[in-house]
Amino acid sequence: MTAPTGESTWAAEAERALSDAGYRRGGARRAILELLGEQSCALSAVEIEHALTSRRREVSRATVYRVMDELEEIALVQRVEIGQGMVRYEPVRHGPGHHHHLVCDRCGLLQPFTDDELERTIRRVSERLPLRVSEHEIVIHGACETCADS
Ligand SMILES: [Zn+2]
Ligand SMILES: [Zn+2]
Repeated sequence: MTAPTGESTWAAEAERALSDAGYRRGGARRAILELLGEQSCALSAVEIEHALTSRRREVSRATVYRVMDELEEIALVQRVEIGQGMVRYEPVRHGPGHHHHLVCDRCGLLQPFTDDELERTIRRVSERLPLRVSEHEIVIHGACETCADS
């Protein structure tokens, strides 16, 4: 049996979830979903806009923000604050590709990280919480190697 690739799964799942939530299908939305599905980590709205322009699928910044809001509302995208009011958008994955973030508060560098022990701990803690846990996000702030050395 071949495992489905994380990318196509995410975009297809997102499209289904959006239409279930009553959002109509649209070319701009589909282009954004395809792009996000290919990402291994978070993108900013500006990066999304530029990437789509380079694919000749021009989408306005306002549309990018609107679609990100919709995706965030149905928990398909996670907003990652990287300081100075800047935000990046992460396609939420529960299986392979699931990761957390290190944020440099000086230059805004965002690095993905994974840790099996952390995941086990979160799972164990989740069982004791008065909440039916659906997802979690860990953001660790600090100074990246470059910034810490300067
Ligand atoms: Zn990420
Ligand atoms: Zn830095």
